[in-house]
Amino acid sequence: MKKILLIFLTFILVLFSISFLKKKSEEKALFQKQEQLVQETNNCLKQSDWICAEKNIRTLLKEEPNDTNLQLHLAGILLEQGKYTECKEYIATFSFNSETAKIIEQKAEQLLKESHELSSEDSRHFRLEFDSSPSKTDIYEALTVLEVAYDSLCRLFNFYPEERIHLVLYQSKEFQGSANRPEWVGAIFDGKLRVSLNVMQYRELYRPMLLHELTHAFVHSISRANIPLWLNEGIAQTVDGSSLEPFPQGNISSIQTLRESFIKEKNTENAKKLYWYSLAMVKKILEKVPFENLKNIIQETGKNGIEKALEKYGLSETELLNEVSKMR
Ligand SMILES: [Zn+2]
Repeated sequence: MKKILLIFLTFILVLFSISFLKKKSEEKALFQKQEQLVQETNNCLKQSDWICAEKNIRTLLKEEPNDTNLQLHLAGILLEQGKYTECKEYIATFSFNSETAKIIEQKAEQLLKESHELSSEDSRHFRLEFDSSPSKTDIYEALTVLEVAYDSLCRLFNFYPEERIHLVLYQSKEFQGSANRPEWVGAIFDGKLRVSLNVMQYRELYRPMLLHELTHAFVHSISRANIPLWLNEGIAQTVDGSSLEPFPQGNISSIQTLRESFIKEKNTENAKKLYWYSLAMVKKILEKVPFENLKNIIQETGKNGIEKALEKYGLSETELLNEVSKMR
């Protein structure tokens, strides 16, 4: 009897073990599948393949419906695809507070308003949007300047952006982009180039300005990520033909202030200093690296960060900063 009981118990134990192992292996397979999906999604995001990214994130959300990181990613992807209303409605369902969600929602709101209120005119690579009624001459001149600049930048960087670039030529301040930008900012690139219509009266000003902002658009397309601002501004100033003025007065900017957005700087003199360092540091890079390799540095920075990108050329941010600081 005891023996039968023992056999029976062993049998139950074996059955239990098989079902346990089966469950474990199923869990492992699911985990591996999810890991693979996350990997694939990151690649889609890097390549700005929004359709693939949206599909994958929606699949991941089925498994983890309350993952706030995934929810924020989906909101951002909807925004990138121009699905502004859907994006806003989706954020409205969030049960958590998030600064990022708020920014995405505001951006969706602004772009939705723009899509209703701005008129537009297309050229081969650009969509020009405007709130007032600029003269036909202004419209065609802006588009011509941009197309010529576009050709030059394609050749300079050996890079051809896939997407059409948007330029907002605004009269009303509500289309100038960031609401709290300081006085010294003439134009910005925030996914769209934004230039005040008034600037068009001053040709010597607005041509380099368009070239400068267009360079930011190219850098954005090449890097597919946020790169340190000094690198971005230094490249844009190199391309727009800015020359390096005498060494600025005052304290030396730290690497951290040079990496972050200069828009935070309300003081014009301090802002000038940040631009000076940016240009000086990029000029230092160009003493050692040919211009055509800048594309590589931008791409590498987008993927692995600035230190890794410069390391390849025997350079570092700190060394560049030290070198230009000695230019007094
Ligand atoms: Zn700039």
